[in-house]
Amino acid sequence: MDLPLDPDSIKGFLAPEEGARLYELAIAASTLGPCLEVGSYCGKSTLYLGSACQAKGNHLYAVDHHRGSEEHQPGEEYHDPELFDATAQQFDSFRAFRSTLQRAHLEDCVVPIVASSKLAGRGWSIPLGLVFIDGGHSWEAALCDYQTWAPQVAPGGFLAVHDLFPDPTQGGQAPIDIYRLALASGLFVELPTTKTLGVLQRL
Ligand code: SAH
Ligand code: MG
Repeated sequence: MDLPLDPDSIKGFLAPEEGARLYELAIAASTLGPCLEVGSYCGKSTLYLGSACQAKGNHLYAVDHHRGSEEHQPGEEYHDPELFDATAQQFDSFRAFRSTLQRAHLEDCVVPIVASSKLAGRGWSIPLGLVFIDGGHSWEAALCDYQTWAPQVAPGGFLAVHDLFPDPTQGGQAPIDIYRLALASGLFVELPTTKTLGVLQRL
């Protein structure tokens, strides 16, 4: 794995092992179709997925409204004051995200889609080699991501879901719930999990 930038220099929520797994999956997905992530934040996962796509002449759609999830809002546990736009009085990770793309020389293979997952998915018809879901963690947001994007995974392609906590005392259950929904659909088989990153492959 050859990264153009130190992942530690990017704010975010992804363990190095999880990033390496995403990279590996995006390489394997490259013959099947472009990759797509829901939830880019400042671009840590984008660095891994985008670099793999770039190495293979593929591209990555990076979907995020950049207004933050519930836990990123002022006063919440994961709020970062550096990402608060004082003029607009709103959270905004897009500037940091763009800076990451530029620093990592990924502007030629990452397509930022600054919109909600639901809006971005409206009328979507490109079969995807890999979908990485790491957006909102409310049940409504996670279910919407699953319903919008799981059907877009090409046969043989991957559906990766971040923040799986089999033990409910360790974290929210929405991501693992949609992971289980995907498995129960009979359309996917389970591949090994890396830390909290679950991976399914479309039959
Ligand atoms: N993958 C990132 C972390 C993502 S954090 C990393 O590697 O660090 C979750 C992101 O999902 C936030 O940036 C938030 O703005 C975005 N998000 C939450 N709900 C969303 C929705 N419904 N549509 C689009 N983006 C959403
Ligand atoms: Mg996450």
